Amino acid sequence: MKTTFVTLEEVKEIVKTYPTPFHLYDEAGIRRNARKVYEAFSWNPGFREYFAVKATPNPFLMQILKEEGCGFDCSSMTELQLADAVGAHGAEIMFSSNDTPPEEFCKAAELGGIINLDDITHIGIVEKALGKLPETMSCRFNPGGVYQLSNGIMDNPGDSKYGMTQEQIFEAFRIMKEKGVRQFGIHAFLVSNTVGNDYYPTLAATLFELAVRLKEETGVHISFINLSGGVGIPYRPDQEGADILKIGAGVHEAYDRILRVNGMGDVKIYTEMGRFMMGPYGCLVTKAINEKHIYKEYIGVDACAANLMRPAMYGAYHHITVLGKEDAPCSQKYDVVGALCENNDKFAIDRMLPKIDMGDFLVIHDTGAHGFAMGYNYNGRLWSAELLKKEDGSVQLIRRAQTPKDYFATFDIFPVYEKLTQTS
Ligand SMILES: *Cc1c(COP(=O)(O)O)cnc(C)c1O
Repeated sequence: MKTTFVTLEEVKEIVKTYPTPFHLYDEAGIRRNARKVYEAFSWNPGFREYFAVKATPNPFLMQILKEEGCGFDCSSMTELQLADAVGAHGAEIMFSSNDTPPEEFCKAAELGGIINLDDITHIGIVEKALGKLPETMSCRFNPGGVYQLSNGIMDNPGDSKYGMTQEQIFEAFRIMKEKGVRQFGIHAFLVSNTVGNDYYPTLAATLFELAVRLKEETGVHISFINLSGGVGIPYRPDQEGADILKIGAGVHEAYDRILRVNGMGDVKIYTEMGRFMMGPYGCLVTKAINEKHIYKEYIGVDACAANLMRPAMYGAYHHITVLGKEDAPCSQKYDVVGALCENNDKFAIDRMLPKIDMGDFLVIHDTGAHGFAMGYNYNGRLWSAELLKKEDGSVQLIRRAQTPKDYFATFDIFPVYEKLTQTS
């Protein structure tokens, strides 16, 4: 059974100040989980988790992760600016982007961040943009083909736009060594939202073997290996979550077997998790405002896909709890929908839930990563607020809700702009 980190009584209190819908985050859960990640990799002295900022680009939440020792994985100018704003600098910033505009390489370098090259052609671009290559450089690897894990989960790196081929990465390391780069890193992100504990250990073994060959054949010093993101979370109530301690132990085993025996026991392990760090520790709280009985039973809520796109975009499952009805039988079959003029604006389809009454509060689970962040403004729907349930139980506003004035702000060139904003 999936439980919520907020109760009906707490929500009733919160809505007196902050109306639904809103995303709510759980500070205690975020910290507990981050500490476990560091425990899982404590065998590796240089270990660092670079939180993937794109998953939850909120500086208040980034601050919490920074306090827990995390750095930040950025992939755009504004993500770099967020990392800067929370005081991250130097090796606390990883810049893993693709199709990168040159000015973003400059910003990453200005902050002292580590540049992780997506493509061999970027060597020349970075050199030109910065005058010379930084002392530390990383390359993203794409093994091609199909990536299969023992539990059958796989993805198709051969079809993905990211990273360099094996041949290119050898070539890139040779070129960069010649141009004065001293410390090298390898990065790969092959499968998203994996279940079970196999993905990191399997990927680690692949990258460790590559690292040994790169060192032997090009003579470079490999200082870190970045396993990137991809560790999944149990969105469904019948799924078991990843055991990060087992994952850490699996990577440790591969490390000793492949790297240590080859004299590479000083390699640091990095991760760039987004979903695993934040996903379960956020939820979307929304209110039932309409019911409709046609060919199917519909519950209309005050949130929509503009607040959480995953169900519409990927058909993703997000568990729903009707607050105060946790123990009621799931006797009704509903489509839970938002107000967008798009028929895929459904948080749940044919979901068995307790009987919902108008005014009931629904918690949509696991929206802490790739939730608010993927929000958009279609239909003129505005972004919700983001709230933080602090460790002491109090609630803090960490992003106010968007207003019509915010939404219209880029029309300040329209002749009667005042008319648009005067009522908001
Ligand atoms: C999206 C992304 C991540 C985070 O992925 P999760 O699945 O959220 O862990 C990490 N690194 C890069 C380069 C990414 O694009």
